[in-house]
Formats: sequence, structure tokens, C-alpha cells
Amino acid sequence: MNAKVWLVGAGPGDPELLTLKAVRALREAEVVMMDDLVNPAVLEHCPQARVIRVGKRGGCRSTPQAFIQRLMLRHARQGRCVVRLKGGDPCIFGRGGEEADWLAERGVEVELVNGITAGLAGATRCGIPLTLRGVSRGVTLVTAHTQDDSELNWQGLAQSGMTLVVYMGVARLKAIQQGLLAGGMDVDMPVAMIENASLPGQRECRSQLGRMDVDAAGFELKSPAILVIGEVAGVASNVLGLNEQGLQAISCKS
Ligand code: SAH
Repeated sequence: MNAKVWLVGAGPGDPELLTLKAVRALREAEVVMMDDLVNPAVLEHCPQARVIRVGKRGGCRSTPQAFIQRLMLRHARQGRCVVRLKGGDPCIFGRGGEEADWLAERGVEVELVNGITAGLAGATRCGIPLTLRGVSRGVTLVTAHTQDDSELNWQGLAQSGMTLVVYMGVARLKAIQQGLLAGGMDVDMPVAMIENASLPGQRECRSQLGRMDVDAAGFELKSPAILVIGEVAGVASNVLGLNEQGLQAISCKS
């Protein structure tokens, strides 16, 4: 029995950000189970496959996780090549690890394929160099949404000096802002809010910690969006040809 499931990252939206390995998996797929943050344009690589949409956005219509897992298992046990296609990277807030373990425990061969995660793509597409030398010594990827509604250690994050890239933050802007301010982060710390990163409808709102909630409301920021919080969010790289009006260009010192 040829039970195999590929857990594949489809990247943030731009179909050209798909990896060659993801394309190979799609070409071999007989069944593709696709999350709703995946751009359907990537399906051009698997016209032969049966496509099952299993979107499960927080708060929206959803396919229960247990059902998705059982469906993957059933198809794999029937000897089909299954591709589970997820937005961004399967292991960055994507349950890739959970699904891989669950399948492996049941004797199914699993292969994980990286995708470009939305936080990295969004920053780059706005000309934000996340680890700009001399400005940002590192990046922390965090989710603002937790399963048990527990709060993050905002104080620790505020004082870490790391650039923060926040996923699933749109509905929790106020809590993020208050947590970081209470944790000692500067009220004028730059914030970039990037909606639909890498897609034709990409929009970005540049703000500061103290007014990010008001700016986001005026901008009508919608999910999916990522937040970049840190000094680098105040710069845009003209190296990338993205020196848009109103954005401060960085001067790269060698
Ligand atoms: N595995 C995905 C993340 C899934 S969690 C990845 O690696 O990118 C879903 C969250 O990802 C969204 O709430 C949003 O914060 C972010 N996201 C996904 N696609 C996005 C996009 N095109 N633009 C901005 N944010 C995105």
C-alpha cells in the first residue's frame, strides 16, 4: 500500500512564490485538500487531481480538523497520492506538525514541503528588511490568537528588542497594542500592517504602536493581514524599487 501524504506550503498567495518541490508534489497528486488561504491559481499544476476545499478560517465556516485528518487518512490508505495544501508554510501556525504526527502514528508516510510564510513575504513585499543590519537583530513570529485565549507574554516580547511579526492579529489589535505598551514598548514604535501580502490586492498601512488601532480602523484593515512591529517597520527599501511616496528610505551602511 502506497500511503503517502505531502503536507505542502503554497506560499502567501503569489503563485510564483511556490517552490519547485511543491509543484512536483502537485503534479503527482491524485487528491488535493486545500485550505482557503491558498490561491486557487496554484491548481494549474494539478489539473489531474481531485480538489477538495477544506477551508477553516477562524470564526468563519469551517471543516472540522478531525474530519480533514480522517479524509487524508482514508485517501492515503486507498493508495492515493494526497497533497494537503496550506497557505504559507505548513509548520508556521499551520498545524503541519500536528497533522504529520497524527498521520505518522497511523503508519502513513508524510513529507513536509516548506512554503514561504506570509510574515516574511509581507515584509519583503513592502520593502521591510526584517533583519536590517544595525536595526533589527532578530525576528519573533507570534500569533495573537491562542486556542485557550491565554495572553502572550507581551512584556517579554516588548523588552526582547526583536522585530515582531504577528499573525492572526486583526481582531486583536487593541490587546496587542495594550500589551506591548504596558510591557514598555515605545508609543511611537513603527508598525506596518500588511493585508493580502503578495496578492494583487495587497495593501499596507504604516502606523505607530500608540495609534495602530485607530489607523487600522480608518484603513479598514481586514484579515488576512500580518503586523510588523519594530524599527524596521518604519523603513522601506529603495533597493527593491519600493521607495513609495511618504515612506522613509533606508541608507544602508556597509
Ligand atoms: N501557515 C500560514 C499562516 C496561517 S495562519 C503561513 O505560514 O503564512 C493565518 C494567518 O496568516 C492570517 O490570519 C494572517 O495573519 C496570515 N496570512 C496568511 N496569508 C496572508 C497574506 N497573504 N497576507 C497577510 N497575512 C497573511
